[in-house]
Amino acid sequence: MSNRYSEKRAVVIGAGMGGLPATQVLADYFKEVVVLERDILPDDATPRPGVPQGKHPHGLLGGGLKALCDLFPDFSSTLLQAGANSLDSGLEVRHEYPGHEPFPARDLGIATFTMTRPLLELAVRRRVQERPNVVFRDGCRVVAIGATPDGKAVASVSFRNRDGELEVLPADLVVDASGRAKPTLDFLESTGRRMPEDTVIGVDFAYSTAVYTIPPDATPATKVVVTMPKAPEESRMGIVLLREDGKWFAALGGRGADTPPAASNAFTAYAASLPTSSIYDAIKDATLHGHIEQFAFPESRRRHFNSIYDFPRGLIPIADSVCRFNPVYGQGMSAAAQEAVVLQNLLAAHASDVDPLAALGSEFLSAIEAIIENPWSLAALPDLAYPDARGKRPSDLEESIGRHMAIIQAARHDPDIHKQLIEVLNLLKPVAALRALEVTPTVVGEEVKT
Ligand SMILES: Cc1cc2nc3c(=O)[nH]c(=O)nc-3n(C[C@H](O)[C@H](O)[C@H](O)COP(=O)(O)OP(=O)(O)OC[C@H]3O[C@@H](n4cnc5c(N)ncnc54)[C@H](O)[C@@H]3O)c2cc1C
Repeated sequence: MSNRYSEKRAVVIGAGMGGLPATQVLADYFKEVVVLERDILPDDATPRPGVPQGKHPHGLLGGGLKALCDLFPDFSSTLLQAGANSLDSGLEVRHEYPGHEPFPARDLGIATFTMTRPLLELAVRRRVQERPNVVFRDGCRVVAIGATPDGKAVASVSFRNRDGELEVLPADLVVDASGRAKPTLDFLESTGRRMPEDTVIGVDFAYSTAVYTIPPDATPATKVVVTMPKAPEESRMGIVLLREDGKWFAALGGRGADTPPAASNAFTAYAASLPTSSIYDAIKDATLHGHIEQFAFPESRRRHFNSIYDFPRGLIPIADSVCRFNPVYGQGMSAAAQEAVVLQNLLAAHASDVDPLAALGSEFLSAIEAIIENPWSLAALPDLAYPDARGKRPSDLEESIGRHMAIIQAARHDPDIHKQLIEVLNLLKPVAALRALEVTPTVVGEEVKT
């Protein structure tokens, strides 16, 4: 099969969890892929300023692992060698929903890993760095994407290099994995195009994350514990997750003014107020390492770039640049990897076209709508249950929430429903799989006694 990209250069903005998988697939086709990253990339698994969320726990869902394994052969071995902990999602994750007993531990055949976000990113980056036609330029902040004279296509990327000098790099394709889409939005504006329509859910969510050594007698029975809030009356939730270094992340979250604190004693007290005592019991006598880190997440935002009919040729926004999900559900990195698989398929489909870039960007933006819709709709349901959440509510919201709670209840007793639910929550199956299940909806707000 001919490869009509083979004389072209692609530039990727951002070496995060969207940019790295995209670089991997571009490297199969393009003569050169240049990754421009504003941070100096560390040689070890330490957080960096351009990814401030890297200090908080990041769960890799089964669907995300599958996508990464599709892109990087034998990626599970890469993670194990890097020190990640294997995780069986049915046996080693305890989901606590108020009013429901936790699901029984069951072998559902859904495997993934726990680790810090910097370790995962480093493992992916090391694999991408093996590619001979990939050039990493770190310490390089992109300032603009340049257009062809007619404004129809991208032509270059301008950036400040490590020495602060302005460089202009010609580019046939630009992938914007900067997280906030600023280069793409600036390009659209400077070429006279309209902005994308956005769907927004205002959640006003805040995180506080601590790292602990937990004494052996208090160590959680599972590698991950997720305590969900008693929505919509209360918003406090928590996660504990085992890191690669044997320490534990404990993250607490709350909405609106109910911000989890950064002071150690107040943090423990907040944990004690969660609907179950699992997290409090784990951390009350644990040794705290360093500071408690905070992060504010005001809104989930989905940019419908596919609604722009004259979307520029050669421009591809990806991952958080297209959609920032509420981090509570742990979906962003997995969706990003799944989007890279879509890009891989489209690159292959167009490789022998006379003009392989002609429709690539617009087809990509349409194709990822289905990828994004899945996690977006899973998160929208619990988020919009809060009266203060800003966003358009579907007319059947209460009914859908009642049905979702009924599925959670049924999953306790029915291993098949349990498996389907966890597969959907892990982005291994579409939400539609849950719609096909026969359950009796519960009334919203009703506590299911067990
Ligand atoms: C608190 C929190 C917790 C989260 N927890 C989870 C979780 O449990 N599971 C999960 O899957 N996801 C989680 N996420 C989401 C996840 O972090 C993102 O979805 C994911 O990192 C998106 O990848 P990205 O490449 O789009 O952005 P990022 O990974 O943020 O990378 C963007 C990169 O672009 C670089 N950059 C930005 N601007 C420029 C520029 N002008 N020039 C050059 N480089 C630039 C940045 O330095 C950075 O390296 C969480 C997010 C938050 C905020």
